Amino acid sequence: MSRVTVEICSRTFAYPSECPCCGSVPDSEVPIQFKASNRTIAANTVRELLFPYCSRCVGHVRIWETGSMASSVIMLTGISGGIVIALSQTALGGLLVFGAALVAAVIVTSIMQSRARSHCLPSCASGAKAVVFYGWSGSTNTFAFESAAYTARFAEQNATKLASVDPGLRHLLEAHKVARLQVPTPASATRTVPPPRDLKQWLAHLDHQPTRVSRRIAFGRALDVVSDPDERATLVHVVCSAELAPIFARIDGVASSTRRRELQRALSDVRADNIPEELREAELVDLDRRIRSTLPPM
Ligand SMILES: [Zn+2]
Ligand SMILES: [Zn+2]
Repeated sequence: MSRVTVEICSRTFAYPSECPCCGSVPDSEVPIQFKASNRTIAANTVRELLFPYCSRCVGHVRIWETGSMASSVIMLTGISGGIVIALSQTALGGLLVFGAALVAAVIVTSIMQSRARSHCLPSCASGAKAVVFYGWSGSTNTFAFESAAYTARFAEQNATKLASVDPGLRHLLEAHKVARLQVPTPASATRTVPPPRDLKQWLAHLDHQPTRVSRRIAFGRALDVVSDPDERATLVHVVCSAELAPIFARIDGVASSTRRRELQRALSDVRADNIPEELREAELVDLDRRIRSTLPPM
């Protein structure tokens, strides 16, 4: 890990109101898979975390990832084909097949990466995903971002949860502060739309969210302002059902052993995910009830 990292001493954290790649308003999301590094991580790290993204950047990230996937498939085919030919015919033939696959993989990667870059805006930080997630150590989640501005804003948004500020991050935060004084911009995009006024409006607002991550963010804001316990319980119930519905739909009708395995996977993901605690508790209770229903009667 040579880049500037941000270490958050909590499972939960806040997102800046901008796309991590180009800085525009997010209207989509990207799952960021855990990336192995020299950092020691806990067994219960989450496999992936959602980040708000703009749909244009989702587009170039998809092209980039398709290129990486295609070159991996070409390499795997080349290696297995090369081994088969080396064993059944000649070692030189095997080497030639491997070499041809290597060349093809490099060409495909370079074509797809330049195609992804051609879809980028000048403000894009990278053609690939602009967020790296280094996992949960047992006490901290560690991230790195391609954009220096997003790194500074992410650290600012989570200032109370920063585990430590290394010299690289300190330098970046100071430079960001100076830049903001010279060109005053808000730390996060201001919302001109007034927040919902009552439960009915909050439910409609949650229902209109285009992505899972935006629904979670809206739900967090609702919990900040709605104090009535019954209304909070309704919000939790609605968001919990919306979060778990795709999992339950996916396992509907499959064998009970597969269902149980999928539910247990979902249970460990929910334990480690970036969601408000009230939502986590509700989802765990619901998943646990479903897991028990898959067990044979005593
Ligand atoms: Zn973007
Ligand atoms: Zn971008």
